[in-house]
Formats: sequence, C-alpha cells, structure tokens
Amino acid sequence: MAGVRLEGVRKTFGKVIALRDVSLTVEDGEFFVLLGPSGCGKTTLLRCVAGLERVDRGRIFIGTREVTGLPPRHRNIAMVFQSYAVFPHMKVYDNIAFGLRMRRVPEGEVRRRVERAAAMLQIEELLGRYPAQLSGGQRQRVAVARALVMQPEVLLMDEPLSNLDALLRLHARAELKRLHQETGMTILYVTHDQVEAMSLGDRIAVMREGEIVQVDTPMRIYEAPATVFVGGFIGNPPMNFLHGVVEDDPTGWCFVLEGHRLPIPPMNGIRSGQPLLLGIRAENIQVDETPRPGALPAAVMVVEPLGASLLITARLGAQTLKLTLPSGRPLAPGQTLWVSFPPTAIRWMDAQSGRAIL
Ligand code: ATP
Repeated sequence: MAGVRLEGVRKTFGKVIALRDVSLTVEDGEFFVLLGPSGCGKTTLLRCVAGLERVDRGRIFIGTREVTGLPPRHRNIAMVFQSYAVFPHMKVYDNIAFGLRMRRVPEGEVRRRVERAAAMLQIEELLGRYPAQLSGGQRQRVAVARALVMQPEVLLMDEPLSNLDALLRLHARAELKRLHQETGMTILYVTHDQVEAMSLGDRIAVMREGEIVQVDTPMRIYEAPATVFVGGFIGNPPMNFLHGVVEDDPTGWCFVLEGHRLPIPPMNGIRSGQPLLLGIRAENIQVDETPRPGALPAAVMVVEPLGASLLITARLGAQTLKLTLPSGRPLAPGQTLWVSFPPTAIRWMDAQSGRAIL
C-alpha cells in the first residue's frame, strides 16, 4: 500500500483550466473522497493520478515514488469506472483474471487470486456466468474484483455506484466500506454525491472550478465548512445562511438580523457596517412555540414530513430558513415559531468573500 501526493498539479484542455495547481496528500490506507459539482475537475484529477492524462506542470507521487512521467501500467494503480467496462464475451472468471494473464502471472496464482477476490466480494457462484447474465450490482462487483486482483497500491474509483438504483447503491456503499476496512487499501474515490462522500470518506476534498476548497473529515466539513459553497453543497437541507450587518453597540458587537440585534463573539477584523452571514444547520436551530428571551419570530410556510423528522420552511423577516424537528409536533403553515441560534452551532461567514471567519 501507499499514499498519494500531488504537488501543484495543473491540467488544461485548450482554454479550460481543469486543475489549478492542486496540491493534495492522501495518506496510506485512507479512503479519500473527491467531491464536487459536475465539471469541477474530479475525474481529471483521478485520470492524472492514473497516468491517463499528462499534467501540464506539477508532480505526482505514489508512496515515495514519483510517477509524473510514467505510463499507467508502471504506476501500480487499478481503476474502477462508472461504466464497469467488463468484457461481454468473457465469463466472470476470465474477466477478473484478464489483467493478471496480461501480466503473465502463472495460472495457479491467477486462480488463487481470482478466488480470493470473488470470496471477498461474495460473487463466487457467479464466476461461470457471462456479464449479460448479471444484475447491475453484480457487474459492479465484478469490476471491483477485477481491480482488486491486481493488488494495486492505490485503487482509483470514479463514480462506481452511479449506475445502480437507489436501494442497491445503499447496499453497495456499505459493501465498499467493509471492503476498505478488510483490505486497508488506499482508495481515491470520485463522486458528486455528498451523502456517498460523507458515508465513505475518512477525509473529503471538496472541489470547485479546478481547485480544492476544503480537505477535512466528513464531520468537520459538515459542521465547519470553510466557505458558503461548501456549507451549501454538503448536507440536506444545505446549511442556512442568514444575511445581516455588524454593529458596534455600547454593550459590544452585535449582528443585526431583520431588525433584531444578536450579540456576537469577538472576531478578528470585523468592522461596523460589515455584511456577515450567520451559517447554521437546520437541526441546530432551537425552536420554541412560545416567545422566549433572545428568540426571533419565524412564520411557518411549509411542513414536509420526512418520516423520522419534519422539514420546515419558515420565513424570518424577508429571509427563508430551513428547520428540522422530530416528527410528531403538530405544526401548520402560518404558525409562528420562536427560533434561536446556539452560539456554538453558528458558522460566521464574510458575506463578500464567502469565507468562514469563525
Ligand atoms: P463530472 O462529475 O461531470 O464527471 P468532473 O468534476 O469529473 O465532472 P472533469 O471531467 O474532470 O470534471 O472536467 C473538468 C473540466 O475539464 C470540465 O470543464 C470539462 O469540460 C473539461 N474537460 C475534461 N476532459 C476534457 C477533454 N478531454 N477535453 C476537453 N475538456 C475536457
């Protein structure tokens, strides 16, 4: 096994800058997720690590070995794509064995490795079938088995679950996590699905327009997004961001939100009149049905029962707020709720740059 390191990697396609001097370290044995919207450069980054794209500048290391100029076959990686690309005319066994035979691995060793990978992915009984005789989920496992038998130092996966239906995806996600726990492999995994990223990643790199915006554990990214973009991209519903202005009151700094004044903690570099955003997750908003000191009135607009919880869209002055509450509370549109924001759950953002201040 080995980690992966990128140093100032730049990749352009004509005028499009797909990667803007990206630096990144993936630790040995880590399940590392690249997450971001369509076109942000995730696949390009993965293809550069694989050696399928030549970088314009920068360096790539696998373990301590620099691989920047090496062709894919000398990088000791394996890749699983969104389209599993299994050979239709070969039985599952031969599909899994293909890469090993290309490397002229002796047949006894091929059999041992194929059987081990098949056992790990629980597809032993499918080895004699053709891909057309498999379900989507089974084909996906064959593709993973084919990568695993190569015993790569790093496994690269590009949206490997996106062709599966929702239920199968959920199952395959847990399987992948188990596989990672069993093998301890270094996995670099691309997805635009934030739930998948949160559930699988030891760490996540959130990308936007060819740049990495934040690298952190899933919970840190969820709770302390580095930018408004990250807070809005991760989580369902996205983080709330309420617009207001800083004022210097006789009693200390405060945040004026829809005519209400909320005390704020000391923050570096803030000034009176500065527009700020109060970032808060729906489930962290404290909700009361009767007024209490410091709480602001919010009018319920929409109530959506989601099973275990209620998702509420409410209006706070001219702004909209999403709240979640446990199911069972009888709430109706038009009702007034009293909301307050526990200071430790607030992420303060600069309204102009969109970057976190505190
Ligand atoms: P998706 O989730 O849609 O696959 P992505 O984040 O993986 O998106 P990339 O496929 O890496 O994004 O693309 C990054 C940018 O580079 C996009 O603007 C894309 O159009 C461009 N791009 C990627 N490959 C090529 C190519 N071979 N030729 C020209 N432009 C390309």
